[in-house]
Amino acid sequence: MWFNKSTEAVLEEFKVNLTTGLSENEVLQRREKHGLNELTSKKPKTLFSIFLSQLNNIMIYILIGAALISGFIGEISDAVIIGIVILINAIVGVIQESKAEKALDALKKLSTPKSLVKRDGESKEIPSQEVVSGDLVIIDAGRYIPCDLRLIETANLQIEESALTGESVPSDKQANLIIEAEDTPLGDQKNMAFMSTLATYGRGVGIAVATGMDTQIGKIATMLEESTDEQTPLQKKIEELGKILGFAAIGICALMFLIGVLQDRDLYEMFLIALSLAVAAIPEGLPAIVTIVLAMGVQRLIKEHAIVRKLPAVETLGSVSVICSDKTGTLTQNKMTVTHFFANDEQEEITSIDLNKEAHRLLLENLVLCNDSTYSETAKTGDPTEIALLEAGKRFDLSNDLLQKTYPRVHEIPFDSDRKLMTTVHNYNNQFIVFTKGALDSLLKISTDAYINGETVTLTEELKNKIIEASNKMSDDALRVLGAAYKSLAADPSKEGRIIEENLTFIGLVGMIDPPRLEVKDSIALCKKAGIKTVMITGDHKNTAFAIANELGISNNIEEVISGSELDKLTQDQLNDKIEGLSVFARVSPEHKVTIVKAIRSRGNIVSMTGDGVNDAPSLKAADIGVAMGITGTDVAKGAADIVLTDDNFSTIVSAIKEGRNIFNNIKKSIIFLLSCNLGEVVALFLAILLGWASPLRPIHILWVNLVTDTLPALSLGVDSGDPTVMDKKPRDPKATLFAEGAGLRLILNGALIGFLTLTAFVIGNNLYPDSLMHAQTMAFVVLSISQLFHSLNMRHPDKSIFQLGVFTNKNLVYSILLGILLQVIVITVPSLASVFKVYPLTIRDWAFVLLLSVMPLVINEIIKAIRRNKISGKTV
Ligand code: ATP
Repeated sequence: MWFNKSTEAVLEEFKVNLTTGLSENEVLQRREKHGLNELTSKKPKTLFSIFLSQLNNIMIYILIGAALISGFIGEISDAVIIGIVILINAIVGVIQESKAEKALDALKKLSTPKSLVKRDGESKEIPSQEVVSGDLVIIDAGRYIPCDLRLIETANLQIEESALTGESVPSDKQANLIIEAEDTPLGDQKNMAFMSTLATYGRGVGIAVATGMDTQIGKIATMLEESTDEQTPLQKKIEELGKILGFAAIGICALMFLIGVLQDRDLYEMFLIALSLAVAAIPEGLPAIVTIVLAMGVQRLIKEHAIVRKLPAVETLGSVSVICSDKTGTLTQNKMTVTHFFANDEQEEITSIDLNKEAHRLLLENLVLCNDSTYSETAKTGDPTEIALLEAGKRFDLSNDLLQKTYPRVHEIPFDSDRKLMTTVHNYNNQFIVFTKGALDSLLKISTDAYINGETVTLTEELKNKIIEASNKMSDDALRVLGAAYKSLAADPSKEGRIIEENLTFIGLVGMIDPPRLEVKDSIALCKKAGIKTVMITGDHKNTAFAIANELGISNNIEEVISGSELDKLTQDQLNDKIEGLSVFARVSPEHKVTIVKAIRSRGNIVSMTGDGVNDAPSLKAADIGVAMGITGTDVAKGAADIVLTDDNFSTIVSAIKEGRNIFNNIKKSIIFLLSCNLGEVVALFLAILLGWASPLRPIHILWVNLVTDTLPALSLGVDSGDPTVMDKKPRDPKATLFAEGAGLRLILNGALIGFLTLTAFVIGNNLYPDSLMHAQTMAFVVLSISQLFHSLNMRHPDKSIFQLGVFTNKNLVYSILLGILLQVIVITVPSLASVFKVYPLTIRDWAFVLLLSVMPLVINEIIKAIRRNKISGKTV
């Protein structure tokens, strides 16, 4: 048992050196022996079970029924063809599903937690699966524990172990305990940390003692796979639509039968027609196309540096009307440099630091010692604010390593965004010194004195105001300000159980620049154009926040800025009333973020919220789209988010919204296209029956068109190049249906047109060849298929001409149309296929008629679009 051994014994057993950790060589050997640190997931589904699941679908049931009845009444070739279609459909389904699985696996890899380990004497961040037993793992708040660890160092470390013990109250960890009782339950093993549990506070170091399936959680193997097959609202709507259309098909068939009986038609013929209609009414390829387009959209978003964790987010992105963004690192570069300081009552540039002046030395020592980051020429780890402080120290030869050795840390209170302070206690020249750094307002509340020119004086109101004035001056120049205070004591205060953060002596301030990201200003302007408001939420000072917000174009009016303490005075209702006039939230804590999201949503907005910290999970969940930072974000924030940014950049959110709008529009184009094609088929059949004609199409023709010639154009529409003007419009109303903005009308008109053209071809065929029903059906079949192919070009834009868009700007669509025409010609001209499809080779004259009719949807739509464009431009003149 690791918990009843001393840390030395554990280090010895794993042959690991506490200062350097394992060497990379050793790591390779261990990984070879024990494999990767991962839980073997559930058995993958077999191909056969995926195949069977493809058949479990109402549309397929109808087709199977149709095949059986066709076979039963002697229409063997129809039965065989329907059988082949079902088979092809299932095979395509299997291929799609396994592709989607692979894409999801790749996604999982991209978003797996990372761990900080010490190897070859340096701290490195590695994917958690690469941790091997014996690794020294560094734990900080917000990280998941990558494997089972025997803790060797802890500083206020708290770990939430509900994944393992069910207990959601974090448990305090103590590295220096040795637990005797062999049967100590997991929850009481205070010197251990377990895989998949979460560090919520403090810091620690542990030796990896078990990895992968050897860990406690691996042993009980209760790790549930994250559900990844969440359906998007659109997918749900389409499933419902499929059901409605299924019932509609049954209804139409019954009606048809009734009419047929009234018309005294042959029962067998009636059955064939009813079957054709059932097939025509159901858009078989639709769900698959939506899934593929969404999956491809997710891939495109990865290229834009956004990993979608929850599929519905792809759709919601298109409706976002407010983006709430953190400042540091998202709007700014998070590359901080200390430029100014204030000490001894004077503000100067950092180059003027003089270590012979006691206040200057104390200020720098404070900022370097009260610091958890590391800085060397080659490697920097930790919080950029702290790295900047170490860098400043280094300029004056105050290195963190050296100082820590001289003045060892004996106690600490970690930084958190609520207190906005961090404190360490050091053994300092036979005394104890408390160093606190943090936000000035928090620091002044706990300081009673100030250190000026070698003397400790009382911190009077007048002095306080001077300090605040100096801080404001720095903030107004967009500098991030951090204060430092100290006190020295004869005894280790932590041992006496005294409150450490009180009665401090203020030393000074530093101001650091964190330049805005260059591309962000343009992105914010783009958002404005697209009807999206940008809101800055930051823990930083009001003036600093406003200076940067002003520079970026988020706000030019200080009235739009509110601070956390002002927020505290408002009720949720009062905030809801005020919210539209606010665009910068300064000095806020993570808890405020939830209130802010609620207020913005109360105005009917769709909100995206960014977050990175341990406490950001609730606000990420409360927002419509939670966005976590991939680089600086904690595992908790990533776990709660819908989207993770791999570059932490605000502009990526805007690109993702643009992509989301395009994806939705493209899916809509595919759906409306497919439905208008189906409607065309229903119209052709229904009218023919009403008029007492023979059926213009056979079931197999309709199946062919729906499953072969329509599918590729629909997919090509689904991946259409984005509309460059998509960000000129207001966000999409999430409640609006797919048929909004005239799409429903276009669907009906084009469906009617296609049906009408098909019937026209049938009538022409009948007139040309009165004795051959097959010939007339062939002409109707070809017009149905090719007119739909041409119609796909209309779908690219509701108003713009295909020539304005550029015919070849969607090459996939052009190839799909050409391939569709080629396949159609092959079916008609290859004798063996022609006999299966019951078609007749067309003459040149027939082809001329057929092509003329087929191109009509394009011609008519172009004319209508030209009229509409004229009207619109007439209105705007
Ligand atoms: P954002 O919310 O935009 O990321 P932020 O990084 O400034 O902004 P916090 O990390 O909550 O937000 O920091 C709030 C304040 O706490 C800072 O303005 C600074 O004064 C102080 N602070 C930040 N980091 C530290 C730290 N490591 N130690 C002590 N104080 C800190």
